[in-house]
Amino acid sequence: MTPRQWAVRIVNQLQKAGFQTLWAGGCVRDALLGIEPKDYDVATSATPDEVQQLFGIKKTLAIGKSFGVITVLGPKSAGHIEVATFRRDGGYSDGRRPDSVEFTDAKEDALRRDYTINGMFFDPITEEVIDYVGGQEDIQRKLIRAIGDADQRIEEDKLRMLRGVRFAATYGFEIEPKTMVAIQNKACEISAVSPERIGTELRRMLGHSGKARALRLLIEGRLWEQVLPSDIASDFDWSDKVGLLQELDSDFPTLLAAILSGSMVTASTLQDSWRLKNDEVVQADWILANEEKLAQAIELPWSQLQPLLVSPHASKTVDFLQAKLDSGSVADSKRLANSIALCREKLALDEAALNPSPLLRGEDLKELGIAPGPQFKSILDTVRNKQLDGELNSSEQARNWIIDSKQR
Ligand code: ATP
Ligand code: MG
Repeated sequence: MTPRQWAVRIVNQLQKAGFQTLWAGGCVRDALLGIEPKDYDVATSATPDEVQQLFGIKKTLAIGKSFGVITVLGPKSAGHIEVATFRRDGGYSDGRRPDSVEFTDAKEDALRRDYTINGMFFDPITEEVIDYVGGQEDIQRKLIRAIGDADQRIEEDKLRMLRGVRFAATYGFEIEPKTMVAIQNKACEISAVSPERIGTELRRMLGHSGKARALRLLIEGRLWEQVLPSDIASDFDWSDKVGLLQELDSDFPTLLAAILSGSMVTASTLQDSWRLKNDEVVQADWILANEEKLAQAIELPWSQLQPLLVSPHASKTVDFLQAKLDSGSVADSKRLANSIALCREKLALDEAALNPSPLLRGEDLKELGIAPGPQFKSILDTVRNKQLDGELNSSEQARNWIIDSKQR
């Protein structure tokens, strides 16, 4: 059974038992946008106890019961579905979550949701959209609009600011002006949202093909300056990066490096506040540390370029440089184009040609009567560089060179 079939069956069972039951929220939005929903949420007039009674204690989980949500377990192929009783949220004192919930009807349940496109219901039996908030019209107009009073809705839950930007970015929508003003006014309170959640939202919007729009809206919504470390000078013109992002299709760490390039901000300075993973930080900061050198590849001796190109992050860096070139934001575009071409040519070499095994190892130095110590590494490095630059072409030549230099 597919998740969709399972979600239809759950609605059917609840409706047959006499409860008004509908699909709600994100799955309705996605279906109307022609996107396969990630998961189906069901909303019902049945109370959590009634839902549990109908499907059986063994087939349900009550983790979310206090706010009206019962998880109904499905066959493996279908997965679990959250069945939520129509509710209205009590006050919000922490700027993030409702203090309490009260069970109510479908209309009020629509009104507690964040954006009109997320506030619709769908009856999969009659195939009817139930829209109390004008969501269908906003989908037509490609608009993210807060349900009700935008200032109040953003004030209640600051996460909605990032959700709004994410939906606009990933669907190619704009943010309706009043909603945008509400975001701008409350942007400085984004710290009410946990770093994990901030990181997740930013990763989702910046790692998506809509990332250029995401950055533009984050800047316009004044959120971008808020998610950067406050002690780092903010006189950088981030809007210059929108065009670059448009040209770059890559993974999240590479896109992050592209945004940060040229500013004082590194990925490691964002690690805690965005809860970045170590490997994301390592990749982004490698790109930041080496992009300039790779941009000058044609001027580097092979012994300096080769160690960069054997890095696992080299080809991502070259993709970023290509986007920089394509977005027309580079002064010396000829040099960059030639450097990119050289890097690409070298990266296409097979492993043995790009990274030949060293002519000598530590063992060989011992055999030559050199005592192990700090000079080992420097001798081996010198031999390696001479090998890469074509000055030493065999192990024997390398040995002779060492013997000669000892005598000197
Ligand atoms: P996605 O699953 O892509 O993150 P979604 O809109 O489905 O998007 P969920 O977290 O799955 O997000 O939430 C399901 C529905 O619950 C939303 O469509 C919306 O109606 C409501 N909702 C979720 N988060 C909030 C929030 N912070 N404020 C108000 N309503 C919300
Ligand atoms: Mg969802």
